[in-house]
Amino acid sequence: MSDFSRREFLKRSAAAGVASGVALTGFGRNALASDVAQVGTMIDLTRCDGCKELNAPACVAACREENKDVFPEPIENIGNYWPQKKKEDWSNKRGLTSRLTPYNWTFVQKAEVEHDGRVQTIYVPRRCMHCDNPPCANLCPFSVQNKMPEGPVVIDHDLCFGGAKCRTVCPWEIPARQAGVGLYLKIAPEFAGGGVMYNCDLCYDRIKSGREPACVEACPRNAIIFGEKEKMRALARSRADQINGYIYGEKENGGTSTFYVSPVPFEKIDAELMKQKAAQPNPKAPGFPGMPVDVENFTETANGIAWSMAIAPIAGIAAAAGAAYKTMKGGEKDD
Ligand code: SF4
Ligand code: SF4
Ligand code: SF4
Repeated sequence: MSDFSRREFLKRSAAAGVASGVALTGFGRNALASDVAQVGTMIDLTRCDGCKELNAPACVAACREENKDVFPEPIENIGNYWPQKKKEDWSNKRGLTSRLTPYNWTFVQKAEVEHDGRVQTIYVPRRCMHCDNPPCANLCPFSVQNKMPEGPVVIDHDLCFGGAKCRTVCPWEIPARQAGVGLYLKIAPEFAGGGVMYNCDLCYDRIKSGREPACVEACPRNAIIFGEKEKMRALARSRADQINGYIYGEKENGGTSTFYVSPVPFEKIDAELMKQKAAQPNPKAPGFPGMPVDVENFTETANGIAWSMAIAPIAGIAAAAGAAYKTMKGGEKDD
């Protein structure tokens, strides 16, 4: 279901394009543009049934189909790199749908939660929250992640070095890294970054052309609703009131564009997910996020501010170099 008008989207996007022709470096460069219609989603956990626990529920299958041309095709015999000794290579696990990987940008978690004297099974579709003030984008040293005027946070795969700072500062460690692909191979294969980061972009290309995200379109139960962000927030609040339930994503990380509504408290869902994570063979591996409540935004911490100031000059140079590289690449294609 989409209540977001294509015409309005294009009109406001054009205005934002003009307005955003300013320097993008430094602290807060990815703060929200106030004059642009923001989009968002409401995810109703009372409706999601995990598509009855298929290996790839409809939303997951649709996302994989939608993004298959963007998935990484790494070189063979990927080397390890410095300073992260071990490469991250998911290319031999492309079929994995039980966590976030560079080949799986959304997945569905299951939690058995006791609340009000009964046990309920809750299914939680997970992917990037598209935060209001995204630390992943604000603190990327290469300026290759941006919060778009309409709200989605988008990674430029052509310019990403895969240093994974975005994942470190994301409270849910959402972006996933694939080694053996990307710009670092041309510039410093053994020393810089280590691949490319991949993440849900809220189907930015689709929504720019007036379509709703693929996962939203595919969901047989209308569990994910897409539309103007403030309408999604209002919908979440009214649904939560109706069921005497709980909202997640409104305050976490300083606010996001994703509003989950649940009949059970998110603290209980988080506790269950953390138990599942601890039982995994490598419990510290990212890609299986919890749902911690009231998480702090790293951009606003002392360390975040210090990092932002430190990278501002580098980010400026990187943004200019990136633009030059894109122009050059475009020129090569035209030749
Ligand atoms: S969000 Fe929809 S498509 Fe995805 S698992 Fe839930 S019911 Fe299935
Ligand atoms: S959920 Fe993580 S990756 Fe997504 S915008 Fe927020 S901080 Fe960035
Ligand atoms: S919005 Fe698009 S990229 Fe994000 S999870 Fe849904 S289908 Fe995948």
